[in-house]
Amino acid sequence: MMVDYDAAIDASLQRLHDEGRYRTFIDIARQQGQFPHAVWTRADGTQKDITVWCGNDYLGMGQHPGVLAAMHEALDATGAGSGGTRNISGTTVWHKALEAELADLHGKEAALVFTSAYIANDATLSTLRAIFPGLIIYSDALNHASMIEGVRRGGGEKRIFRHNDVAHLRALLAADDPKAPKLIAFESIYSMDGDFGPIAAICDLADEFGALTYIDEVHAVGMYGPRGAGVAERDGQMGRIDIINGTLAKAYGVFGGYIAASVKLVDAIRSYAPGFIFTTSLPPAVAAGAAASVRFLKGEGGVALRVRHQTQATILKRRLKAMGLPIIDHGSHIVPVHVGNPVHCKVISDMLLDRHGIYVQPINFPTVPRGTERLRFTPSPVHGAGDIDRLVRAMDEMWSHCALNRAEAVA
Ligand code: PLP
Repeated sequence: MMVDYDAAIDASLQRLHDEGRYRTFIDIARQQGQFPHAVWTRADGTQKDITVWCGNDYLGMGQHPGVLAAMHEALDATGAGSGGTRNISGTTVWHKALEAELADLHGKEAALVFTSAYIANDATLSTLRAIFPGLIIYSDALNHASMIEGVRRGGGEKRIFRHNDVAHLRALLAADDPKAPKLIAFESIYSMDGDFGPIAAICDLADEFGALTYIDEVHAVGMYGPRGAGVAERDGQMGRIDIINGTLAKAYGVFGGYIAASVKLVDAIRSYAPGFIFTTSLPPAVAAGAAASVRFLKGEGGVALRVRHQTQATILKRRLKAMGLPIIDHGSHIVPVHVGNPVHCKVISDMLLDRHGIYVQPINFPTVPRGTERLRFTPSPVHGAGDIDRLVRAMDEMWSHCALNRAEAVA
């Protein structure tokens, strides 16, 4: 009998519909110079002006004149693509300049650029086992999918410690062979709750047990620390971290990912990681734009944007809290509003979009655990006071319309 492939595909999609977590993407056209405003094209071809409230271009750098100028300049100078993998003709002066900028940002000897932070996490974590035979990786339970995938694909021993639970991590470290090579992998900001990892306490444990440290600063680079190097910089811990992972696609507003570490470690990852070796490098114009963004955010302009970013987040949280909405507030720039049900979450998201032109994507399993579905708002320096007013009024109306609980703030 022949395999019914179509039936298997239908069944897999139906499972998502049944759980109310089938994902629909909306078609938007961001308008340069107008962020966070965009135009939504509906399935029937009609259009609506919307405000994007769930983007990760946290500082609006995707429309920064200096970034765009650098991209135009490189594009005109060199053409579209890089033309090769890093090994075979795809290493250009723009890639090298970007890596120098990133190494300087993090106070490390070297940096290595990948096509995304997902690939950087996956490629690095899976390759470390080849460099350190017998490596045990201690991974926070809420680490991003890219880290989980890297740890899993590398094979070998792994220990999952309860989220941000330093006592649990200590117990796991203490239970293993003191002579075994060890690495602790965690994030500085967990993007769905917006909570911070206990960087100093984890570094203390790493010192005590002779472990390496690996931090994902994807939701922090550009936004925290005096030069935008992340939370580890802000907390004076950057020098204690062995490998820092970041993205160029969120606060830096462009595309790509990287690690920063010692020259030796970067050389080893460069030499062994298939996810680095066997793929075409970033287009030079992308590397040039990213480098311009990193450079800008290191300076005074970056300081001003970071202050305004935090102010916007504080204002939005204060106003939503004042209406009794269940905000998850850990003091970061991320503003999650707990809904707790995938169907309600989707209905509210659809109504906000249709009625109010407010775009906030529902966040469901597996991005967050079932029962913790939420709307995740990302206020930015380019959201105006009028945008915040409209959002707050619309959320008030939605909560009344759906008769949802007005709870005390969570956390
Ligand atoms: N790490 C974390 C914590 C993330 O949230 C994400 C993306 O959302 C990534 C890594 C991947 O970043 P990129 O979009 O550059 O692949």
